[in-house]
Amino acid sequence: MRATVGWGTASDVGRVRQSNQDAVLACEPIFAVADGMGGHAAGDVASALAVAELSTLADLDQVAQDDVATAIGRANARILAHAEAEAQAGMGTTLAGVVVVSQAGGDHWLVFNVGDSRVYRLASGQLSQITVDHSEVQELVADGRLDPDEARSHRRRSIVTRALGTNPAPEPDWWLLPVAPSERLLVCSDGLSNELDDAEIADTLARGPIGSAAQALVERALAAGGSDNVTAITIEIEVVDRGEGPDEDTLPRLTASTA
Ligand code: MN
Repeated sequence: MRATVGWGTASDVGRVRQSNQDAVLACEPIFAVADGMGGHAAGDVASALAVAELSTLADLDQVAQDDVATAIGRANARILAHAEAEAQAGMGTTLAGVVVVSQAGGDHWLVFNVGDSRVYRLASGQLSQITVDHSEVQELVADGRLDPDEARSHRRRSIVTRALGTNPAPEPDWWLLPVAPSERLLVCSDGLSNELDDAEIADTLARGPIGSAAQALVERALAAGGSDNVTAITIEIEVVDRGEGPDEDTLPRLTASTA
């Protein structure tokens, strides 16, 4: 048995852009956001291809990290092929998300990321960013050359260092975290994380039913400027599968490969 999850999604073109090139997938047990790049008829196709490939995993009885990695590889190849056929240089997309997986006798969040869309977790009132952006400004932050607050408004903040639609194919980063009741996850595009600071995200993510939290976050990002497409998925565990008995607790925990 796998944990039962509740969720909400919202996506908006924002107040400046002409088209929404973000794509969203909420198909239990898989949740993902893709933020396309390369302009009209390129970025929106790339993000749509990425979530379409991931959505095929919902047909499996059990989803494992290898399945997700394979789907991401297929998406990358399809985006490359499309870019070549249509002469769309620079076509690509970010992809960040979470899959609820049964592993080591209990349920886990399998979090994955390519690019600068993000997954956050709110637990006991504390917001933490699980994913690490693949971006130029994140590299400056990691080097101690840029403050995280300055990164949010940096002129080069949208330059990603990993994306789908590249050759060689990008390596996703992975995290495997045990699920807990009452925690909430957020998957979002940079159009949300660039408009709202951590306190604003935590405040809005905590409030109201999980099904309406995504819409509330998107509306708050629009009110803060909406300078990019804004997309959010909010997810919460409703029933935790704790495994078959006390022995489950003594099993060694498998950790996701980060190779
Ligand atoms: Mn964006």
